[in-house]
Amino acid sequence: QDQLSIMLQPKVECQSGALVGFEVLARWQHPQMGNIPPDQFIAIAEHNQLIDTLTEVIFNKALHWFSAFCAERQAAASVSTGKHLLCSINISALSLKNLQLFNLLDQLCRHHQIPAEQIMLELTETGAMDDTLASLDILTRLRMKGFQLSIDDFGTGFSSMLQLVRMPFSEVKVDKSFVMTAQHSRESQLVIKAIIDLAHSLDMVVIAEGIEDADTLQFLQQLGCDKAQGYFIGKPLHDHQITDWLA
Ligand code: C2E
Ligand code: CA
Ligand code: CA
Repeated sequence: QDQLSIMLQPKVECQSGALVGFEVLARWQHPQMGNIPPDQFIAIAEHNQLIDTLTEVIFNKALHWFSAFCAERQAAASVSTGKHLLCSINISALSLKNLQLFNLLDQLCRHHQIPAEQIMLELTETGAMDDTLASLDILTRLRMKGFQLSIDDFGTGFSSMLQLVRMPFSEVKVDKSFVMTAQHSRESQLVIKAIIDLAHSLDMVVIAEGIEDADTLQFLQQLGCDKAQGYFIGKPLHDHQITDWLA
């Protein structure tokens, strides 16, 4: 019934604050029940074999918005600034075995004339690391199509170093539970530092999510974190709110 929509949360360069892209977040506005949080309806979709359809719907809406956004920026700046932006989309662990879905996503990129290189697929650590060999096969195929891969919620799962080295990820996303407690927890600080060092030694880009204040952003800058995301930088926005946020 077309009740799903998307919100866009900005991702910026940690040091300069320059925009690097957006994460697409699904929203469900139910006519009677109001706003249903994704933590609830994603799980329901997963349990009812509807998650691939949901991914397709969200992906389509995301590309529709993203191609218009990039075109607008390019026209406004008269340089190809839109070309360097990334659009990050969440992929459920359950979809990882569905090659057909990824062929479809590839087709959608062509349809919207967006190079796969500008699409970052965010996969959760536990999902990505289950059944390593099958995951490695499909992730490698996705990389060969040009998609970028991000390992989401990193630090909360149980992946080994070896798995991380073998998997073709380009980005590691430090879980917000560490970032949101960094100011008060030495343990969180150590975990964040270790993840940044590990990712850099593997030539991966690190992004921290859940940055809610200036002190946390500064802490991450000092550690050499590459990218930043969180309420302090920008909350998830409706597409019509982006111009104001940018200004
Ligand atoms: P996630 O992928 O870890 O997304 C980040 C969540 O953290 C988002 O919640 C975002 O609004 C929130 N967040 C961002 N910055 C901050 C901050 O500074 N402080 C706090 N407290 N929270 C922050 P949201 O939108 O409720 O999404 C929750 C989860 O639902 C996502 O977690 C993701 O796992 C799932 N999800 C959302 N959209 C989709 C989708 O299209 N497909 C799939 N498969 N999962 C989705
Ligand atoms: Ca995510
Ligand atoms: Ca996350």
